[in-house]
Amino acid sequence: MQKLRITLIIIAIIIPVLISVLQRPALSNSLAALENGVSINEQPKQEPIVIQPAPKPQKIPVVKEEPKKKATKTPKKKVKPVIVLDPSHQEVKNLSMERVSSKSTERSAKQLASASGVLTHQKEYRVTMMFAKELRHQLEKKGYKVVLTRTKHDVDLSNRQRATFANKQHAALVISLHADGGKNYQRGFYVMSPTKEAVSKKRYHTSKKQAERILRAVAKEDKIFSDGHFYRDDLALFNFTTMPVISLQLGFLTNVNDDKKLANDRYIHELAKWVSNGIPIAK
Ligand SMILES: [Zn+2]
Repeated sequence: MQKLRITLIIIAIIIPVLISVLQRPALSNSLAALENGVSINEQPKQEPIVIQPAPKPQKIPVVKEEPKKKATKTPKKKVKPVIVLDPSHQEVKNLSMERVSSKSTERSAKQLASASGVLTHQKEYRVTMMFAKELRHQLEKKGYKVVLTRTKHDVDLSNRQRATFANKQHAALVISLHADGGKNYQRGFYVMSPTKEAVSKKRYHTSKKQAERILRAVAKEDKIFSDGHFYRDDLALFNFTTMPVISLQLGFLTNVNDDKKLANDRYIHELAKWVSNGIPIAK
C-alpha cells in the first residue's frame, strides 16, 4: 500500500510537470504569433507553390537560303578616254628608213637624232620625256588615261611603230612632243597638225581644232613662234595613226632663251598646265 501511495504521489507530481514542459513550445509560439498580430488559431499562410510551366524550347530560327538573285549588272566602270603622248626621239638615233605614208613612196629616218640645247647641251629626248610626265599628270587630273609611247630613253622605236602603238591603245588623241632646232633667232612654242590631203577630212578637222585650242591656251601665257600653226603631210606618226593627232614644239633648243626655259622644271610644269588648258575635260 505504501508503495502504491508513493507511486501515485510521484505520478501526481510528474504528470503536471510533464504537461507543462510539453505545453511550453506551443505557448511560446502563441506569444510570438500574438506579437506579430496573428491570431493564434491562424495557420501561417503558405505561399502557394506555383508550378512554373516548363520553358518552351526555343525555336532555332532556320536560316533560309535566299533564293539566288539573278546576277545584277554592276554599273560599268566608266572607261576613261586615252591620250597617247609620244616623247619624241630616243637615246640612240635610228637612221634606217621607213615609209612616212601608205599613200606615197616617200621615206624618212625611223628616228632622227635629238636636238641639243645650245647653252645647256640638254638633249631633246630628255626634255620631251620630262614634259610628257608633267603633261600626263595634268591630263590625268582632267579624267584621261594617259599612255606614253616610251618611258625609257634606251629604246628603238620608229615613228611608224609609235603610230601603231597609239592605234592599239584606241587613243582619243595622240600628241607628239618635240623641242627641235632651227635658226638661232627662231624661238617660241608652236603646234603642227596633218594637212588636208594627208588624212581623212574628219581627222584633218579634229586635229586642226585641237591644235588651235592648245595654241590659243599657250599664247595667252607665253611667246609663240610665227603664227604658231604648221601643217605637215610627211610625218609617219600623223599618217599612220587613225585618230586626231598633233605635234607640239615646246620651243627651239637652238635659241638661248628657249633652251634656258626648257631646262627649268618650273617652266616645264607651267607649260604643261597651259597645254592642258587647251584640252577639254574628259567626257
Ligand atoms: Zn624633234
